[in-house]
Amino acid sequence: MRQRLLALIIALSLLLSACGQHATPPAELPTPVAQITRTSEAIPNSSLETEPVGTPELEPPAAPENRTVYDLDATLDYAQHTVSVVQHITYFNRADQAMNELLLLIPPRYFAGAYSQGNISGELVGQSRENGIQTMLNLEPSLEPGASTQIQIIFTLFLPNRQGVFGWSDMQTNLVDWFPVIPPYDPTTGWQVNERVVDATNTIVGEYIAADSADFHLRLRLTGTAQDLTIAASSEGKEQPGYIEYQLPLARSFSLSVSDRFVMQEVQHEGVTIRTYVFPQHREAGQAIIEVAKNALDMFAELFYPYPRQTLSLVAADFLHNMETDGMLLISKGVIDFYRDAPLNNLTILIPHEISHQWLYSMVGNDPAREPWLDEAFATYSEALYFERFQPDQLDWWWQNRVEGFKPSGWVDSSTSIPGGYTAYRDAVYLNGAIFLQSLRQLVGDEAFFAAITQYVVDNTYKIASGNDFFNAIRNHSDADLNALLRQYFENPPSF
Ligand SMILES: [Zn+2]
Repeated sequence: MRQRLLALIIALSLLLSACGQHATPPAELPTPVAQITRTSEAIPNSSLETEPVGTPELEPPAAPENRTVYDLDATLDYAQHTVSVVQHITYFNRADQAMNELLLLIPPRYFAGAYSQGNISGELVGQSRENGIQTMLNLEPSLEPGASTQIQIIFTLFLPNRQGVFGWSDMQTNLVDWFPVIPPYDPTTGWQVNERVVDATNTIVGEYIAADSADFHLRLRLTGTAQDLTIAASSEGKEQPGYIEYQLPLARSFSLSVSDRFVMQEVQHEGVTIRTYVFPQHREAGQAIIEVAKNALDMFAELFYPYPRQTLSLVAADFLHNMETDGMLLISKGVIDFYRDAPLNNLTILIPHEISHQWLYSMVGNDPAREPWLDEAFATYSEALYFERFQPDQLDWWWQNRVEGFKPSGWVDSSTSIPGGYTAYRDAVYLNGAIFLQSLRQLVGDEAFFAAITQYVVDNTYKIASGNDFFNAIRNHSDADLNALLRQYFENPPSF
């Protein structure tokens, strides 16, 4: 019994680091970003792509035109832990005024020595200036509204030896947030960028990259002495002579996890290829992961719309937190160790959580630093929805062990800069956020609550949503007086 209790405590400690980087050393890096693989091959800016299907009365927005295109030629030397990259970014000025600057966000710069800049060029690129992970490019002449320009960036990654979403260990190499990106831009408010927040215990607090829906095209070459590598990625790879080709449209990022010891299993489920990539000792867990993933995909298909990509990869991570990326989830090996004793285990809690981010993060973007509750509160609450539907006898256990036992407090609309660091952030945004959503559901009723959630997701697909978008959806479906509830949970409640 004592052993079981200890296991449970360890397990809970791990699971609470869902989508977070836990107890990281000073030079650690964050990396959240998710992405999804669509049903059709990515044809950048094509109008031929299949749109997500909402409920009959809800029309998802058309795929945004003039999306940014990230085109990468990358050569990975797994044994030497380097990646040589030639990147082209095609960027459209979607604003209604000329742009004379373009901002590059270069996440690998958070790791000392990891990013070696080669040449940055482009027909409009003039002087540049660097500030931390930001490089501002002067455009000469300016980029006119509706016009596009291309930038070429040549760089080499010297991956850090760290167990995390960016770096290598003896068991795998992870590439998340591994190349320069252009952040969202609004002519009124400027570039939407945030700094990574690291708390007093050197734990990274949440995530910091807001991203537009963009198109990704990667040609990956392998070099060096490593043999028999298995590559998990945000989309399906196609073998081509000398390289593997990946395409991923309408995503927030593109990620890879590579290992010389992955055991891969796959099933087809409702038109989606679900793949698990686990380490050999977790071979049996791979099937358990798939079963939870199938249920979760079914649930979110009903709540939102069917998973809009061809593949979903669930990847064992050689570190002790969990992370969503588009089309691919990284699940801590520590969590997988506890898959037994189903359903009272972290897999059953965390897989629905991370899969929910394929909608609430990837399809519907939000600013993860300024309004993290928009994805994380619902991701946590979706764990409860999973238990309610598939393990109803254990729902009370979930609430007690996942939420109530921590006696969470704090404003649900806290940013990652919340005083108190990671623990305060988790309690306020994830845990109090789940309590808030349950209270909201009880106040407006199931019918209004779920109709509003669906509308919010459908209406904000491909966009970067705000709290106002969420509450407008609630308001469309309920006349209940929300003011007392909002004042209880929100520091800056919306006004109706
Ligand atoms: Zn999460």
